[in-house]
Amino acid sequence: MSDSDTHDPTSLRTPIVAVLGHVDHGKTSLLDKIRGSAVIEGEAGAITQHIGATAVPLDVISSIAGELVDPEDFDLPGLLFIDTPGHHSFTTLRSRGGALADIAILVVDVNDGFQPQTLEALDILQRSQTPFIVAANKIDTVPGWNANEDSPINATYEAQSDRVRSRLDESLYEIIGNLSDEGFSADLYWRVQNFQRNVGVVPVSAMTGEGVPDLLAVMMGLSQRYMKEEMEIDVEGPGVGTVLEVKEEKGFGKTVDLVLYDGTLRADDTIVVGGTNEPIVTDVRALLQPRPLEEIRTESRFEKVDEVSAATGIKVAAPDLGDAIAGAPVRVVRDRERADVIAEVEDELASIAVDTEETGVVVKADTLGSLEAMADALEEAEVPIVRAEVGDVAPRDVSVASTAEEQKEQVILGFNVDVLGDAEQRAEIEDVRVFTDEVIYQLIEEYEEFVDELERAQQDTILENIVRPARFRILPDHTFRQNDPAVVGVEVNSGTVQNNTNVVKFEGNEPERVGQIKGIQEQGEDVDEARAGNRVSVAIDGPTVGRQIEEDDELWTELPEKHAKILEQELSNEIPADELEALNMYLDKQRSRDPFWGK
Ligand code: GDP
Repeated sequence: MSDSDTHDPTSLRTPIVAVLGHVDHGKTSLLDKIRGSAVIEGEAGAITQHIGATAVPLDVISSIAGELVDPEDFDLPGLLFIDTPGHHSFTTLRSRGGALADIAILVVDVNDGFQPQTLEALDILQRSQTPFIVAANKIDTVPGWNANEDSPINATYEAQSDRVRSRLDESLYEIIGNLSDEGFSADLYWRVQNFQRNVGVVPVSAMTGEGVPDLLAVMMGLSQRYMKEEMEIDVEGPGVGTVLEVKEEKGFGKTVDLVLYDGTLRADDTIVVGGTNEPIVTDVRALLQPRPLEEIRTESRFEKVDEVSAATGIKVAAPDLGDAIAGAPVRVVRDRERADVIAEVEDELASIAVDTEETGVVVKADTLGSLEAMADALEEAEVPIVRAEVGDVAPRDVSVASTAEEQKEQVILGFNVDVLGDAEQRAEIEDVRVFTDEVIYQLIEEYEEFVDELERAQQDTILENIVRPARFRILPDHTFRQNDPAVVGVEVNSGTVQNNTNVVKFEGNEPERVGQIKGIQEQGEDVDEARAGNRVSVAIDGPTVGRQIEEDDELWTELPEKHAKILEQELSNEIPADELEALNMYLDKQRSRDPFWGK
């Protein structure tokens, strides 16, 4: 049972650390290295694997960091690293106050520098105001590097040749420059005085362990110095946490993995969990932790515990968890009013809710926090949302998207989610476009490109169905036939003469329709149109040369008023300059008679 009698009621919890960065820059390796170093230091028992997280206690940190960390200087109990591989959007996870992670490590490959997910991570860190340091990783790949396993950076740096050192410096300054471009004042960590104002950069190798002592020392120092107050919790109080993932577990049904960041959670507690439709109120059936590797026999991979305290990662088995949402709040009821706790959860959910419109795109994301980040980014891009939900793209989403009136809204944007097989099929049938990506701004860029293309295509169709302006002149001595139809040689002065359009002639500013073009020939070949500068012969049904039209007459394509309006207001950027010139001259003539013509 609980050992709460011996607990100091307020105590300091472990800061929660998120490791983030672009794919392949070394997030997993860095966590593995920290775990591995702890094992080598003979502290294997002290480091505990939680559900979705790894706890590294202070004494382990101090034995890895050597003289960089004196445990006497600290009263925080260590660091809890959230396991992030493949789920960088976990960094968008929320807690009551803001980001679930108290502090973050942004991993950047020294060779590869800033990449899309690096920028996205920075954006998320900035929005959530999460303090972070940069691990400039893979320093062992600098050509000529001489590895000194697990050494603090200073010692191994001094042991390198001048050339290697200056190569590393160059890469590091590039990263510092990149950070500054993004609005962060940064420097190598040993030069940083105030970590609240400046971002510290720590050179490391997740492969050789070089710089890892520094990284842990800086994280620990930063937490102790700036976060101590936030770490003061009532360990005995009812637990508060955030859902990491909802998972089916053999023998337990639907379970939730959560990070508890305040209070305790007991195996006999009633909890309230944020759900798809409404908060779920349920009784804990079991609290599950991973069983140490050597103990896994044929039985469950998990062992049951009676109680856990913040900060920790834990799997909860309980009825009715199927509708729980990743990123949603979890709260223990214990001796409080159930309705009050439900209201708290509802409040928290409401603060993350996304504004939706009557029409817009459908958005899916892997957690509530990432859904919110998507919604923010879409709002900035002025893209309306009709529906926003946590979860994979399902046939239901396709149905919603397919009812949109405009094609640009028959769209599903999925961030860090899968598209279920039948949803994909259905989307194809319903002509719904599904975009998925692991980087928010790339996803939005893809969508914007799609919209641009759509608009271009729409304008092309409009242009195809619209009469184009043209001014042309009958050439002297080029009457090939007097009438029925009249066939004359013309030169196109500006614009595009098209077949089957009406022809007008202005008497002063009065337009007079003289007939309709019934054929265009260029050097004996039939053509559909003639562009400015061309000389062609045209057959005009209606007039007789010498009566309604004369050689040397200036003729115009008759523009229906509606077409003239569309051309002027919507397509003036799409049509060639000479066509625009013909249009403007035509409008001038019409408007000198009727100032509102075509408006
Ligand atoms: P993640 O996608 O960010 O989790 O990246 P991983 O940890 O999976 O690392 C990607 C690749 O880079 C793997 O092949 C690692 O072995 C390699 N890697 C990671 N860190 C280092 C490092 O410090 N030095 C070297 N040489 N390779 C590294």
